[in-house]
Amino acid sequence: MAVCKECEDEVDELVKVKVGKRTVKVCEDCADRLREEAQIAEDSESVIQDMMGFKGRR
Ligand SMILES: [Zn+2]
Repeated sequence: MAVCKECEDEVDELVKVKVGKRTVKVCEDCADRLREEAQIAEDSESVIQDMMGFKGRR
């Protein structure tokens, strides 16, 4: 058994999700949510990077 770092539920298996530069282990419910949030954060981050003239990725 493992405990989700997000909702503190006990689950059989944790899913690794990349959030920014960190990787967190959470349950699948939280993984879906975090992936969505990470995508949104990444989108807005790339906008900021564009404004700063930073072409780090893609
Ligand atoms: Zn969770």
